[in-house]
Amino acid sequence: MRLFRIPSVVQSYFHQYVWRIQEKTPSIYLTFDDGPNPLASTYVLEVLKEQNVKATFFCVGDNIRKFPTIIELIKTSHHAFGNHTQNHLKGWNTSTQSYLDNVVKCDQSFEKLGIRTKVFRPPYGRITKQQGKSLLAESFKIIMWDILTYDYDKNISIEPCLTKIIDKSRNGSIVVFHDSEKALPQLKQLLVPYIIAMKAKGFQFKVIV
Ligand SMILES: [Zn+2]
Repeated sequence: MRLFRIPSVVQSYFHQYVWRIQEKTPSIYLTFDDGPNPLASTYVLEVLKEQNVKATFFCVGDNIRKFPTIIELIKTSHHAFGNHTQNHLKGWNTSTQSYLDNVVKCDQSFEKLGIRTKVFRPPYGRITKQQGKSLLAESFKIIMWDILTYDYDKNISIEPCLTKIIDKSRNGSIVVFHDSEKALPQLKQLLVPYIIAMKAKGFQFKVIV
């Protein structure tokens, strides 16, 4: 069974992390992980421009290094950025020091392009208590998610998945998509109808800063 919304018991247990940002007016926070990627990020940017919405890109430092021009495009389109480690590390398998060093490396990859961000998303959502504590002490905001779209899974059935993510989305939902080549075929079927449906329900789209 796929869990499209992270259960509230999990969200409240890890209350030091951000799962949802409730606003006075119904708002959705679109996020794109694992880029930049020439094909996928370019597609996402086109859609966001067409739909006139802003989003937050949680970038992998090594991809920033490979594709700086895509970062420039995201920046000039006034979207927001977040740190997603330099090498997409799984926190549970990594010592706290190596994990923090990898976050700093991603920071430096951003800084080379004149970008600073204090929002962080752990790859796979896996981060140890100690790693989390250390990042919070460095004044990072740790951004998890309320809604998982499963765009990275080529075995999803698009229509039921779309219905689920639209139904489960609520005021303040942070929604995870991926600007990666693996997710692109699914993303192409999910993203536009999702945005259109949420707009029709009266939601606005905001960035995480
Ligand atoms: Zn990731």
